[in-house]
Amino acid sequence: MLKICTSTTHTLAMSGLVVSALLFAAMPVQSATHIFASTLISSKDTKIRADKTIIIENNKIVSIEDGRIEGDNDDTFIDLSGYTLMPGFMDMHTHLSFQNEGPAGYMKRFTNNEADYAIDSVVYAQTTLMSGFTTVRNLGDSLNETVALRNAINAGKVPGPRIYTAAKSIATTGGHADPTNSFSKRLMGSPQPVDGVINGADEAREAVRQRYKDGADLIKITATGGVLSVAKSGQNPQFMDDELAAIVQTAKDYDMTVAVHAHGKEGMKRAILAGVDSIEHGTYMDDEIFKLMRKHNVYYVPTILAGNFVAEKAKIDGYFPEIVRPKAAAIGPLIQGTFAKAHANGVMIAFGTDSGVSAHGDNGQEFALMVEAGMSQMDAIRSATYNASKLLRIDDKLGTIEVGKLADLVAVKGNPLENISLLENIGFVMKDGKVYKHTQE
Ligand SMILES: [Zn+2]
Repeated sequence: MLKICTSTTHTLAMSGLVVSALLFAAMPVQSATHIFASTLISSKDTKIRADKTIIIENNKIVSIEDGRIEGDNDDTFIDLSGYTLMPGFMDMHTHLSFQNEGPAGYMKRFTNNEADYAIDSVVYAQTTLMSGFTTVRNLGDSLNETVALRNAINAGKVPGPRIYTAAKSIATTGGHADPTNSFSKRLMGSPQPVDGVINGADEAREAVRQRYKDGADLIKITATGGVLSVAKSGQNPQFMDDELAAIVQTAKDYDMTVAVHAHGKEGMKRAILAGVDSIEHGTYMDDEIFKLMRKHNVYYVPTILAGNFVAEKAKIDGYFPEIVRPKAAAIGPLIQGTFAKAHANGVMIAFGTDSGVSAHGDNGQEFALMVEAGMSQMDAIRSATYNASKLLRIDDKLGTIEVGKLADLVAVKGNPLENISLLENIGFVMKDGKVYKHTQE
């Protein structure tokens, strides 16, 4: 159906642009999508709004109206009566190209090639989107496969969340993200900055520039030991101050933020003082670190789900290599307590799960763990929307439901402010104005 916009035709004809005015007049008026929801959590503030219609044209929110407005025949109407509508969720810590499988997973370090990681990542990306996460930060892959995945998703070739990827994490020799830890010397080689392993400030700069060249959106470093690497310490500092300074300064040149894996205090402290943007896991944070994070505006991405997951699996004989098992048992159960203290101390928190450690698609379980540790339901939702968009520096276009923002929306039947675990079963997912999931009951 065509609707002629007469006033525009007239105005343009008067100015002599008759041809273009006629072309404009012949264009059909854009049909819209109207979504009615019984409850709206916009994440812009902590208010709960009842009975709203969100009107979307192309991929943008153009209007938010009171009550139920179905639009005319050209429009698509989506009835989410009984549902709570929220901005699409954002997970600030995922690994979309692999998933923990115990001993079999460790073997994949020897057998997987780029194509194996790439194909797995397509599957995990879809699972993630369908669980309500329309944006993720991918904090470490193996061979830059998540750069290709991001590009394929952005081009509409495969379904998945918007990805902001660090590509391959940067470590020092023997550090948490050294890909050859525990390998036989015959297989070990000598990984270089191109592989994400550096020693010294010059190599640190080279590694950051390589990530930029590879198409990464941000930088991820492993500033302390970690749980799942086949190495003894889960918390020793693994970068010197000059290396950290070189990384942060170089990343800034390319407008990239720096995300920091850290469990031990010393590594966290050095990284925060160097000017990084987020601390991941943060297990052994204390009052001094909370204060530093507040002072330097550093986000905490807790990943409680990963901590609990590895602590559980550490109880199973043979699930982890023996060098990993005591780290998983000691560090895993502490993260929820650290999160509780960080939240009580006013540290800025952005939602993150480390999915890939736990299964992709289980990301929503983090919400209940945050609430269990003392965060309000509303703040937990805002950590995965508004706060995350701030950390990603995309709050001008995503993270809240507001006119002018992109239409990334999720909904769940019932009230997640009364029962936060409802967010583990998302019934409606829209990304960029397109519906990917709508389970009708
Ligand atoms: Zn991780």
